[in-house]
Amino acid sequence: MLSFSFSYPIIALEREKMVEKTMDLDDFRVKPGSKVNLNDRDTSGKNHFNDDKESGQKALAEYKEDIARIQDVLYAEHKHRLLIVLQAMDTAGKDGTISAVFEGVNPQGVRVANFKAPTLPELDHDYLWRVHPHTPGKGEIVVFNRSHYEDVLVVRAHNLVPEQRWRKRYRHINEFERLLHDEGTTIVKLFLHIDSETQRERLLDRIDTPEKQWKFNPGDIEERKLWPDYMKAYEDALAETSTDWAPWYIVPADHNWVRNLVVAGIIAETLKKINPQYPRPVEHIEQYREKLAQPVNK
Ligand code: ATP
Ligand code: MG
Repeated sequence: MLSFSFSYPIIALEREKMVEKTMDLDDFRVKPGSKVNLNDRDTSGKNHFNDDKESGQKALAEYKEDIARIQDVLYAEHKHRLLIVLQAMDTAGKDGTISAVFEGVNPQGVRVANFKAPTLPELDHDYLWRVHPHTPGKGEIVVFNRSHYEDVLVVRAHNLVPEQRWRKRYRHINEFERLLHDEGTTIVKLFLHIDSETQRERLLDRIDTPEKQWKFNPGDIEERKLWPDYMKAYEDALAETSTDWAPWYIVPADHNWVRNLVVAGIIAETLKKINPQYPRPVEHIEQYREKLAQPVNK
């Protein structure tokens, strides 16, 4: 199982206060076949880290280095693919997570695919039609900012298709993700979990802060009214589609530092498990040193 840990700094006089904290990522994983009650799931997450933001930020920096280093090898090896699915209610910080966790990573190896409301041509096809072309190729990491899960979330909350149609989609999605997995894609799915009060504060902050006003979307207030419907839809989606080949993690997201740390930890540990290797160099690479010694015609 994935696990990650970080040590708090050793300060001589405060040795007794020092805690070696190991957090098992299984704390956040949705066990396949288990029920999900989002009210029981912590949205703060600070206790996992003894409310120690400073150490948390150091650990985050280390995970980011791990991600950047291993991504370089993944790209060079050109063998494995990594798909990260991000889902969340408005203001939970999907965009902020992506920039915080992937800054410092070579942009050539990471791609973000955004899934907004479908266009008319997209609606003319099945709901997975627009998704498949964005899945990662060899050596690539792709982040889905929203995803095919919208088709069992917003679609359900707004009754956009009848239940008999969306209910079958859990099976389609599990099979679709199994196909990707069988063909060599590692899949990690992250639900950024915030409290509705956190959302209220963040929406107010968008109204109050001039630099954030552009982010304020009156539509978010309407969506917010459907909070219980969305929670129900998320609970079912997480329970029905957390599989051994494509697990869901519920990430506490009320505090950005906790959210970024948990997401970076999960991605770093996933990459370590993939364990890509640099490809073998060309045969007798040493001989080229001599060839380089020869002058070129200018
Ligand atoms: P931001 O954080 O910038 O608000 P966002 O992901 O919420 O980012 P928006 O443009 O505000 O982006 O919203 C995209 C909208 O598209 C969401 O309300 C989402 O539910 C909707 N959407 C995505 N996929 C589907 C789908 N398959 N069917 C219907 N609506 C969808
Ligand atoms: Mg939005």
